[in-house]
Amino acid sequence: MSGMRKPGRNFLFVPGPTNVPDRVLRAMHAPMEDHRSSDFPKLTLPLYGRLRKIFKTKEGQVVIFPSSGTGAWEAALTNTRAPGDKVLISRFGQFSHLWGELARRHGLDVIVQDEEWGNGANPDRIEEALRADKNHEIKSVLVVHNETATGVTSNVAAVRRGMDAAKHPALLYVDGVSSIASIDFRFDDWGVDLAITGSQKGLMLPAGLGIVCASKKALAAMKDCNLKHCYFDIPDQIRANAIGYFPYTPALPLLYGLREALNILEEEGLENVFVRHHHLAGGARAAVAAWGLKLCAKEPKWHSDTVTAIMVPAGFNGADVIDVAYKRYNLALGAGLSQVAGKLFRIGHLGDLNELMLLGAIAGAEMAMRDTDIEVDLGSGVAAAQAHFRGSIQAKIKQVAAE
Ligand code: PLP
Repeated sequence: MSGMRKPGRNFLFVPGPTNVPDRVLRAMHAPMEDHRSSDFPKLTLPLYGRLRKIFKTKEGQVVIFPSSGTGAWEAALTNTRAPGDKVLISRFGQFSHLWGELARRHGLDVIVQDEEWGNGANPDRIEEALRADKNHEIKSVLVVHNETATGVTSNVAAVRRGMDAAKHPALLYVDGVSSIASIDFRFDDWGVDLAITGSQKGLMLPAGLGIVCASKKALAAMKDCNLKHCYFDIPDQIRANAIGYFPYTPALPLLYGLREALNILEEEGLENVFVRHHHLAGGARAAVAAWGLKLCAKEPKWHSDTVTAIMVPAGFNGADVIDVAYKRYNLALGAGLSQVAGKLFRIGHLGDLNELMLLGAIAGAEMAMRDTDIEVDLGSGVAAAQAHFRGSIQAKIKQVAAE
């Protein structure tokens, strides 16, 4: 229990980076090669069409930057906007805050719609703001689909309906960093113009790829944009990508990893991946209810299937739970950020994960809470999650038998 060595596996339950499957690790273990060779496009060209399926788009243009998700945020904005453009962002957690800050630092005129943390984007308020904007000065609406800081998923389809009802031409930008490839995301059906994600969550890779998907309208907006950027130029990428290359040295091992991660997602089937995440999240939420604790998400309609943010009782510090879990049990839980620092801890349950792995995290969280004097019954969360898992597995077995 003491000493430097932590035997066994680290239980990685932060909501990204997530576990990298052994198959992906092996695929990335590749010698470097010439990224301008005649063979190289065989690796790269198929990736774009396969990623399109992950975004659920027929014609969206996908580009892959060597960056984390933040770079993809930056690319989406700097390629489509001009200095002083008005952009509207719904803010309800640390990541929606940071995206708005990034926009502000790039010289955009950011209109922030604050929602209480624990709620998500409010489509009615967005519609109202757009209706009031008679001269169509608002050029972009920014929504974080899954706010990783609070475990809240917003209804992007409803935001799009609000935008359409207001008959407003603003482009819809959606951060899908902790939703894409884990929970349902529909670029075409929801009329998303720019979607962004990173490699280290649902795609089960290390951090290092920032992926952007752009609609035809977004591509057209790139012609008028004059916010300064160079490295993150989307048209440069598109030109080089068309023949299987990149404007600069790509993150080669990550591309091999991406190919294998896509194989894994396709083998399981994207819809089954979503069902699995919902099933696992149900277990995490059952555990929280059994502990008698509250989620940060204020209503079931906001429940995230990729991350559960758990409020610690007043007088306790979530950071202590996280510290004990890490030091004693080799379990990494997510911290409370900014406004909710110390008030909660988070269990990330996305990516390459199954029931028994999550039960390990729930057991560890229970022990860490008891060690920090939070009154929860040992085994209560584990039992509730087990019951949830068994219940939904039995229901599935019956359904299959009936078919
Ligand atoms: N957006 C969301 C929803 C996130 O969860 C994160 C990171 O966790 C980011 C953006 C920033 O991505 P990155 O840390 O890869 O730059």
